[in-house]
Amino acid sequence: MASSDLEAALVEVGEEIRRCRGCELSRVRARAVPGEGRADAAIMFVGEAPGGEEDAQGRPFVGAAGRLLTNLLRTIGVDRRDVFITNVVKCRPPGNRDPLPEEIAACNEYLLTQIALIKPKIICTLGRFAGQTLIDKGLGISREHGKARRISGILYVPLYHPAAALHQQGLIDALEADFRALRAILEKELGRSPG
Ligand code: URA
Repeated sequence: MASSDLEAALVEVGEEIRRCRGCELSRVRARAVPGEGRADAAIMFVGEAPGGEEDAQGRPFVGAAGRLLTNLLRTIGVDRRDVFITNVVKCRPPGNRDPLPEEIAACNEYLLTQIALIKPKIICTLGRFAGQTLIDKGLGISREHGKARRISGILYVPLYHPAAALHQQGLIDALEADFRALRAILEKELGRSPG
């Protein structure tokens, strides 16, 4: 697909998400959060669901967890504008509760369409819900974080969620170590330094 067609297709998915009434979250959201970044990104990051800041701005990972993610990316030489960042669920669950299975199911087609259009080489899942949705429904994040797995040609890297790491020093240490390993994975998979 020509890059302008790809961008247009991705924008159209975003518009569909903003119009979506597929589950109850659409009735309580301020804004849907389709995701943002390069249409031809080699790397995608997939989180859980928008929080309060994201719901207010309509952009992913712009609150405290987002600042941590942006900084972790910077430490491995990656600008967040060069990746694509989205979530499993595109609308905020009230009070930041865990997304329900039916909410994840209602959004799944949007996520799969975004992945099919962007065709990333590497998908980093952030937290349990993204790992279980995209990699393996039995994934145990404390056991499997940092362990890359190739599925249908895409290298999946399950990582802790930065929001969880904000409150636990042990998790921030693990997340930083996984990002250092990610830098080496990116160099190997992309054949260049990530920055
Ligand atoms: N947490 C997420 O999972 N996604 C966001 O966009 C922000 C916080």
